[in-house]
Amino acid sequence: MGKPPKVRLPKVPVPGAHHRAAGQPKAAVTDEMKLENFARAELVKALPKSLRDPKTEHGAVICRGKHSGHLSATPLRSGTATSVDVGLEEPNCGCPEGTLPVAFFHTHPTAEADGGGGATLHGDPDFSEQDKRLANNNQIVAFLGSFDGKFRRYIPPQIPFTEWQGKRYLNATDENGKVLPEVFNETTELNGLLPKT
Ligand SMILES: [Zn+2]
Repeated sequence: MGKPPKVRLPKVPVPGAHHRAAGQPKAAVTDEMKLENFARAELVKALPKSLRDPKTEHGAVICRGKHSGHLSATPLRSGTATSVDVGLEEPNCGCPEGTLPVAFFHTHPTAEADGGGGATLHGDPDFSEQDKRLANNNQIVAFLGSFDGKFRRYIPPQIPFTEWQGKRYLNATDENGKVLPEVFNETTELNGLLPKT
């Protein structure tokens, strides 16, 4: 594996808050709703498993068929009380051929977890900065189901990337070589609580 080829990208605005453009086509809004509903259905299954003792984070990647638009999830993975590797490092983020990763979801099952050595880690029901970074770096949406029953979504700011051998390489600088600042958007709390059992 060498370095990804240098590709000159069009000038893009500095990443900022995500706003739906007034003229965004209806199809895009429908796709967004389909994705939200799919993620909710996956978390309805995953959160109760995650909340069972020993409480562990669960999660997976959501893939969309390139032509069919059909949504599917990679096999559900579990981790520790405060982390889970959903497989974003896998080729195509673990999504099967003919599909693209569009989102990932995971759970936060506990407010307090034993950090070892008597230390207690405090779990936040909201996305961690690392969660948001994963969404930013992979340019995919993140969904979260937490012990407070809330269903949260994070949409990353758009960052230009180069795709090479199924991996995305973010452009850390603009075309003038100026380093782009790391930007995190706000979390959205979606309607409706997730069942805990
Ligand atoms: Zn997390």
